[in-house]
Amino acid sequence: MQVHTVGEGTPEVAVVGAVHGDEPCGARAIERFLDSDPEVDRPAKLIIANERALDQGVRYVETDLNRALPGDPESDLYEERLAYDLMQEVRDCVSLGIHSTVSYQDAFANVAYLNERKRDIVAHLPVTGVVDFTVVADGRSVELPGFVDIEAGYQGSAEAVDNAYDCLRAFLQTTGVLPGDPPAPDPGFYEVTEPIYKDPGKEYEFLGENFERVDAGEQFATVDGAPLTADEPFWPILMSSDGHDVLLGYRSNYHGPLSSLSLSAVDADADAANADATDDPVAED
Ligand SMILES: [Zn+2]
Repeated sequence: MQVHTVGEGTPEVAVVGAVHGDEPCGARAIERFLDSDPEVDRPAKLIIANERALDQGVRYVETDLNRALPGDPESDLYEERLAYDLMQEVRDCVSLGIHSTVSYQDAFANVAYLNERKRDIVAHLPVTGVVDFTVVADGRSVELPGFVDIEAGYQGSAEAVDNAYDCLRAFLQTTGVLPGDPPAPDPGFYEVTEPIYKDPGKEYEFLGENFERVDAGEQFATVDGAPLTADEPFWPILMSSDGHDVLLGYRSNYHGPLSSLSLSAVDADADAANADATDDPVAED
């Protein structure tokens, strides 16, 4: 793990890239930021988390770092020890994690257990949507009370690096590290309700667009060439034909622009989701 500090004093703000080694945009955005020799008003940490996986171009070496939090310093598994070390670095920080996907070209934010602090951060990121993953948050960074993630675009693309860099700067402006006003795009808020699993051995083709409504009765995918239709309306999230062996993606509900959101309504939903949370496997993020 690389931990770079800018500014003087003890940082209370952190940016974390390369939690997944096959998503290099965060590490590249951090390097671009450090190379720009930034003038900062308060200190921040820039963390390149899973260097070993990044060097090998793989998601993880022994286990998924973003399912291993809070980690274990005594574990036999590299990423479980790394998760513990990462926790020590970010535990007193407001943090932005940077990821990328195989399913969507634009940047969107991931949150869980949304609170005022997280909402203030994501409201000022240049993203097209904010997705609440509370229902499947187990062991992920977004569970932490001061942590939000972005998905910056397609894995390995130059656009993902640009999007990651823009989000990094906006986050550092919102947190007072960089001078200037961050954007205020008022992105839409989507709440994941459930994963859609694949039947083993069958071929899937996703026909819709992520973040675009699928109506009740509408065909949104094929399974071995046969139509798969929606029982209820939903908005697809991280949905792709072959991004994941087990999951097609997620259903979500759209709650309107972030600014219109009542946090108490989200809290109630999160509590209900937590009560019947399971060990669902999770697609990319
Ligand atoms: Zn990731």
